[in-house]
Amino acid sequence: SSVNDHGYAPICLGLEDFYVRRLYLRIQDCFGRPISSAPDAWFDVVERHSNDNNKTLKRTENMSRCLNLGSYNYLGFASSDEYCTPRAIESLKKFSPSTCSTRVDGANSAMSSGTTILHTELEECVARFVGKPAALVFGMGYVTNSAILPVLVGKGALIISDSLNHNSIVNGARGSGATVRVFQHNTPSHLEEVLREQISEGQPRTRRPWKKIIVVVEGIYSMEGELCKLPEIITVCKKYKAYTYLDEAHSIGAVGKTGRGVCELLGVDTADVDIMMGTFTKSFGSCGGYIAGSKELIEYLKYTCPAHLYATSISPPAAQQIISSIKVILGEDGSSRGAQKLARIRENSNFFRSELKKMGFEVLGDNDSPVMPIMLYNPAKIPAFSRECLKRNIAVVTVAFPATPLLLARARICISASHTREDLIKALEVIGEVGDMVGIKYFPAEPDKQ
Ligand code: PMP
Repeated sequence: SSVNDHGYAPICLGLEDFYVRRLYLRIQDCFGRPISSAPDAWFDVVERHSNDNNKTLKRTENMSRCLNLGSYNYLGFASSDEYCTPRAIESLKKFSPSTCSTRVDGANSAMSSGTTILHTELEECVARFVGKPAALVFGMGYVTNSAILPVLVGKGALIISDSLNHNSIVNGARGSGATVRVFQHNTPSHLEEVLREQISEGQPRTRRPWKKIIVVVEGIYSMEGELCKLPEIITVCKKYKAYTYLDEAHSIGAVGKTGRGVCELLGVDTADVDIMMGTFTKSFGSCGGYIAGSKELIEYLKYTCPAHLYATSISPPAAQQIISSIKVILGEDGSSRGAQKLARIRENSNFFRSELKKMGFEVLGDNDSPVMPIMLYNPAKIPAFSRECLKRNIAVVTVAFPATPLLLARARICISASHTREDLIKALEVIGEVGDMVGIKYFPAEPDKQ
């Protein structure tokens, strides 16, 4: 209807993957526009438009300055920062962009040229920050999940995974050779049902048919904006003596009074989570990932994990960026900027979420979460929504099949501490207008708002 009125998309409702991909090809001028600046609150998006005659895409020299509602730069560290940036530049000069070496040079080597003093400092810093005795860092967050799970478990073990876990977890679980069972998204009672099918309550670990049982969840679900029901999940895991693996990609640094993630926010003792995983690509404005746990676990991973043994270590300036941003978060830079950023992301997220709801949008997720999907449902609404927002200088990320079920397309808003209240008000005006145009206000607006 309104989508076709704008001439944006062929109908793809109910059609197969093949047709959805064809839809994406037809509307590709809406997608994949390169960015030519840091992913700050405002950034530069390269403008492209269709050439009407031959339908090929023409790149223009023009850049649009857009309000960025799409990146994971939750605390605003992925832009010039008075404390982090000079230190990252210094480390670039001193260590170069790459160590050009793996963490471990060989059994008989007296030194490890892929391990700089920044790498050891980073691992101490991460362990201290997340509240675990030790940590190990990797060059990529995705690889952290996909390479660690196969080291932790294998044939004869059982992985019980939340149905909406990230693809890096799915990949790691499949690659491990362990049996994988899925429980209904964020539903502790269903987790218990799945566990009860496999073992009985109180059965000692040595008498069970599984070598190990590991339950994998995320702190904040990136397509849902929901907080993990971690306290309830932990209760079930303790009851059935299953290990817990928590991916905090979207929650570490972003939630909790001092930015220490969902454990801090939900009052969970980190000793109750066996393996804590996270990425540096969001709140810390860098790249890479970590695993944190007991000293024994980390020691074991150091000697067995191929992604540690055979991959080039995390880039030194990236490592320095993480160390510096953690120091700012903890106030160890001598300022209160970290605390202010944490207060700001919380206020911004809660303000934006409640205003969207008042306007009549269906918004997923929980309070305090900076991730807020606005439901579009029909994937044919995606191009209209994202293009009309971009025309008004608001950049949003839209997500559809295969990242979501076919008819659960959504726009996924990510809020940052670097957004000002004025930025958010402008964004709300635009999203409100485009929401009317595309027909995605599924609830009545609150009277005083519209
Ligand atoms: N885990 C989760 C929950 C994620 O959302 C992502 C990516 N956004 C990753 C892992 C992979 O992290 P990275 O992008 O840092 O490689």
